[in-house]
Amino acid sequence: MIIVKQKISVKEYLALGLYVWLEKPKKCPTCKTENSLKRIGYYTRWICGKSEEILARIGRVQCKNCKISHGLLPWFLIPRKQETTEIIARFLQFRILENMTLKKAMEESGSKKALRQKGAKWITKLWEKRKKLKNYMASIFNRFSTVMNKILDEKRKILYPLIHLIFEKSPDISVTLSYHNERFHKELNQPLI
Ligand SMILES: [Zn+2]
Repeated sequence: MIIVKQKISVKEYLALGLYVWLEKPKKCPTCKTENSLKRIGYYTRWICGKSEEILARIGRVQCKNCKISHGLLPWFLIPRKQETTEIIARFLQFRILENMTLKKAMEESGSKKALRQKGAKWITKLWEKRKKLKNYMASIFNRFSTVMNKILDEKRKILYPLIHLIFEKSPDISVTLSYHNERFHKELNQPLI
């Protein structure tokens, strides 16, 4: 899976109706050969946005050298997650930083299918990667604060500074989550949540 950092909104992406519009990366992410990726069609997946649920096309490319194929995922999606980055980022902010209940955080996130279980799964996914996440964040910010000023449950105690660092001074949390998701994906070969 390749996350494409091209500036395009959910609306624009869907309006185009074509998967070929996303730029191909210059190098194959697997074997690093230049200009080796060719388009080989698409697959479909559901995108749950704030107001609708749409079946979208995800373009695929294959490397002429190593023969490995990759999906070209627009920046606002997270691998294997139906919700857009914006919805997931808003949920994490409400649940972890603002300590809302699972149900309330899901509702406030704008998810059309505001299921508590789904939000709980996102938290669990982050929780399972806490060590990797901690190292990753520490390497980016070159520091890692363990200062806690509130008595929180165990998960919040550890995730709070991480999420705080992710969203610190960020006017647009979904762009920030997308950035970190891409970096995390590239460095650890797995999605952030
Ligand atoms: Zn290759």
